[in-house]
Amino acid sequence: MNDRLDFKGRTALITGAASGIGAACARFLDRSGSARLILVDVDEAGLSALDLQCETVRIAGSVDDPELWSRLEADLTSLNHAIVNAGIGGFGEIANLDLAEWRRVMSVNLDGAFLTLSSALRAMQKTGGGSAVVTASVTGVKPVPGIGPYGVAKAGVAHMARIAAAENAKHNIRVNAIAPGGVDTAIWEGGEDFLKSVKAIGREATLKTMAATTPRGQFATPDELAGEIGFLLSDMAANMTGHVMISDGGFSF
Ligand code: NAD
Repeated sequence: MNDRLDFKGRTALITGAASGIGAACARFLDRSGSARLILVDVDEAGLSALDLQCETVRIAGSVDDPELWSRLEADLTSLNHAIVNAGIGGFGEIANLDLAEWRRVMSVNLDGAFLTLSSALRAMQKTGGGSAVVTASVTGVKPVPGIGPYGVAKAGVAHMARIAAAENAKHNIRVNAIAPGGVDTAIWEGGEDFLKSVKAIGREATLKTMAATTPRGQFATPDELAGEIGFLLSDMAANMTGHVMISDGGFSF
């Protein structure tokens, strides 16, 4: 293996690790030699089901719960990498969105990302360096109608990554964001909350619009995203920080 893509001996934190892109990242880092993975998700059963060879710490909890991050402080000792990835869907037009729905999406996708990234940065500052990747979205770059709270939160996390990059270069820490287009994961299936939130425009209409306007003509796979996130996290990307890397099959052209 290319030694600059090697995570041998490294400790990494991944949120939203039970499913989709986060689970694919856990498998990628496990295959790439990581010594220890700290995996966080609200889905305890999904976390337990992950079949990984390296040492793991699996924590069931919500990323927007500040107490979770106080409890996790000791587990983050010697942290080298963080993938700030947990997120939920959130649909609705700005004109018709109620405040409760806005806050539900912001709480997980923005507050949760802030709590995760700030905890990881403090830990990596003590380690003496590291790298983080934040999962943003192309909907935070290109305004997609009907995806208001989600797009705003994702624009926020991308900019948070850039500010954190500027603040932490002196600590030998790189921070980048990835902005995916459609990725084939459970986020598009959704639970009760998700279905309630898509009522404003409709799930099928949103999916159709995204697929029809993607030059590649298909959604990405979680493994494709994991490779790109792994690259940004790795020493291969040593000169990249504060970058928002779009991976969208051409959707934002
Ligand atoms: P997914 O639903 O498969 O995975 C998301 C994971 O986050 C799930 O395991 C879920 O249980 C977990 N999660 C949700 N709320 C949480 C919370 N409060 N605390 C801890 N864990 C929580 O979806 P995915 O597509 O793999 O999503 C991963 C990230 O990628 C999200 O931030 C999402 O917004 C982003 N993203 C996805 C797409 C896409 O099309 N799938 C596109 C752009 C960005």
